[in-house]
Amino acid sequence: MTVDHPHSPLPDIPMNQTAPGRPWLLLGLLTTSLSLNLYMVTDRSPPAQSDMKASVGSQDVVPPATGSEPQPVKVPVDVMPASMSPDEAQGIQTASAAAVNTAGWQVLDQEVSHSLARTFASANSEHGGALSAVYSRLFHWDIDLRRDLRKGDRVRVAWKPTADGVEIVAASLKSGKLGTTLTAYRYQRKQDTYSSYWMKDGTEIARRLKESPLTDYEVVTSLLKDRPSHAGMDFKTPVGTPTLATRSGRVTRTNWNTRSNGNCVEIKFSDGTLAKYLHLSSTDVRAGQHVRAGDVIGASGNTGRSSGPHLHYQLNKGKRVLDPIDIHGTMSRSIAPGEQDAFRSHVARLDALLGNALARR
Ligand SMILES: [Zn+2]
Repeated sequence: MTVDHPHSPLPDIPMNQTAPGRPWLLLGLLTTSLSLNLYMVTDRSPPAQSDMKASVGSQDVVPPATGSEPQPVKVPVDVMPASMSPDEAQGIQTASAAAVNTAGWQVLDQEVSHSLARTFASANSEHGGALSAVYSRLFHWDIDLRRDLRKGDRVRVAWKPTADGVEIVAASLKSGKLGTTLTAYRYQRKQDTYSSYWMKDGTEIARRLKESPLTDYEVVTSLLKDRPSHAGMDFKTPVGTPTLATRSGRVTRTNWNTRSNGNCVEIKFSDGTLAKYLHLSSTDVRAGQHVRAGDVIGASGNTGRSSGPHLHYQLNKGKRVLDPIDIHGTMSRSIAPGEQDAFRSHVARLDALLGNALARR
């Protein structure tokens, strides 16, 4: 018997979800990179803008599609070069809804109507679902896109279709609720494995857990707050990524309910909180074993009910589901001083592409 998804019999649902009633799966992930060279700042406050890249995410299994609901959209992982050449940023017509530049980037500029999903669907019937999914991942750290969009809000995205979805290189959200325009620029730092989305000031949009189950991963595809029926946080990462104990504790069990959870590990912290790691490719610990924070307990995978390589990390205390963000705290990475010039040039090109150079703040 599992308690992994106390609110729903369904296994994790992939990340997504945007608008109410629109079960589009989003697989959008933000890419991140990581080397923890941390130039990080501790918790940030609402952003001013950022950039991220899109990603896809597959994650826990998606619930079976029913009736005529839209099929899940797979957003591809980002394959885009870290920076565009000046050529790519030229020839952009900042027309209205869908200008296409020479590099194939299209700019979608649309006032929000009803919901994010409908907004994108009305602007682009073919790729609207994928765009909505990826876009949601860019800004879910700072705003609840299902509840906090208001009349007059505006989305702008520089994107292109890919073999299995879309990729976003820059995006913005003019938010009445926040009273500002959030901006996300995709960029890959020199030392990183993955590109990520950054704010204009060089602060990464996605936060990182201070006590993290993974040192390196592509992107967080699902936050606890994103889906009421999903009890954990999903990290998109290749199969085989070393998975760590976030805190010291004792291994209480491994590989239970494998049909849903796949290979899995549960660790009890000293305060009684249970940490669960699901869908692993392998486990390196046994029940009863004591582990210290940072010890490798296994490797991430795609086992059990999982639609793509990722780690599902979940915290429970008694019957309560705890948010890893609250328990472990977060920090933000930033662009090192020596890389700021290159980053600023990159942002300028993306701003030109987005037609957002003098965006209102
Ligand atoms: Zn999950």
